[in-house]
Amino acid sequence: MKPIQLYNTRTRKEETFVPLEEGVVRMYTCGPTVYGPQHIGNLRSQLFPDLLKRFFLSEGFEVRHVVNVTDVGHLEDDSDRGEDKMEAAARESGERAEVIAARWTEHWRANREAVNCLPPDVVCKASEHIPQQIELALELERKGHTYRLPDGIYFDISTFPAYADLAQLDLAGQVDGRRIEEVEGKRNPADFAIWKFAPAGVRRQQEWDSPWGRGFPGWHLECTAMSSLYLGAPFDIHTAGIDLATVHHSNELAQAECAWDVHPWVNFWMHNEFLDFGGAKMSKSLRNVLTLNDLADSGFEPLAFRYFFLNAHYRQQQTFTEEALAGAARGYRRLLAAAVELREAPGESDPERAAPYRSRFRDALAEDLNAPRALAVAWEVARSEALSPADRRDLLLGFDGVLGLSLDTAVPAPVPRESDPRIDALVAEREAARRSKDWATADRIRDELTAEGIVIEDTTDGARWRRE
Ligand code: AMP
Ligand code: ZN
Repeated sequence: MKPIQLYNTRTRKEETFVPLEEGVVRMYTCGPTVYGPQHIGNLRSQLFPDLLKRFFLSEGFEVRHVVNVTDVGHLEDDSDRGEDKMEAAARESGERAEVIAARWTEHWRANREAVNCLPPDVVCKASEHIPQQIELALELERKGHTYRLPDGIYFDISTFPAYADLAQLDLAGQVDGRRIEEVEGKRNPADFAIWKFAPAGVRRQQEWDSPWGRGFPGWHLECTAMSSLYLGAPFDIHTAGIDLATVHHSNELAQAECAWDVHPWVNFWMHNEFLDFGGAKMSKSLRNVLTLNDLADSGFEPLAFRYFFLNAHYRQQQTFTEEALAGAARGYRRLLAAAVELREAPGESDPERAAPYRSRFRDALAEDLNAPRALAVAWEVARSEALSPADRRDLLLGFDGVLGLSLDTAVPAPVPRESDPRIDALVAEREAARRSKDWATADRIRDELTAEGIVIEDTTDGARWRRE
């Protein structure tokens, strides 16, 4: 069997995955900042580690997966200025920060569940781990990595020569950059707050006593403290979207390696590329978010979105358009229809006949989690005439343990049937042409209808049509 190869941001290459403890994978994922809804881009950063986890499970590993919930300390920009996103949301809506956090944490959990993400083994909230974060900050202070400014305690990156390694930063280039102006007194532009003082005269909803006075933790502390609390240090894999690699992960890593003298703190740093929206950045701060609920309002089921996600490699930028999602929804419906037919297939499968498909599916995933290739093998199986229905049933339902498309249980969503006598007649004429193998006529009718925006789907009970 081919070894599992994964792309490691830390080394910028694909490497053979060997867990620190035999048979066990310890992984941590940066979760949501719960001041608003998670958009479908954020969801990609949850679907990716879920696919990874499912693959490890299918390989027989025990997986410990920890995901955090950021409910304090994430400022509006990376420069340690700006307002805490939670506090800003609370001020605007007049609600308590905890109420807002509870609402959007539940929304995130429900979204994950709707797209079949397995529940993490631990979901940990920043606000419930303040003592651990203070302890980490104290350790950094004791070891001489920090200094005090009027607004907080800062990490001095010049005390950690490997700071630039993970993100391959050009620190010299940053000296003349904008960021040095932003917090007066910073020794290095990339220094970052590990503890922020509650601003004088402002009563924050979320603030705590600390050895440095009342305040709140810097955002990066939570992931270092909680990942290692639940997984130990070092651990195997850390995931998030690629935007977090430069600042957040460089900072997480600096804190961990300096506090605990451990290197490498994380063996594999893995980052998913962005889901983009045809050039426009979708972001909660810009309030132009598209959520899973919005997709549902347009008639798309959540698992069609999972299928859409599987169509791109996680390190490829993926562009969201409604047409692309509609295409994925059709693909999903067809694959599900094939699975529904096979569910009741009689008899036993032939392991020898099935083995090559199983190993090609597995190898696609072992090569840096190549989901589109794995999905193509699933399709080959669904359509194969060389395999018996029982072979296809066992293979497809087995693959679904990793794909997570509920092929064993989902009920196909009814295709909304429209009625228009003219189009019904054309579709019937095309059917008749196909039956008499008059492909030219059948194709001509299909082309005419396509030009009108009509999509024909050939199902087991005949052709159906709908408007695109
Ligand atoms: P946030 O809730 O903003 O802290 O982000 C949660 C996760 O979503 C992080 O891992 C981000 O890297 C990831 N993320 C944010 N936007 C996108 C996007 N458009 N595509 C993929 N991942 C994203
Ligand atoms: Zn994080």
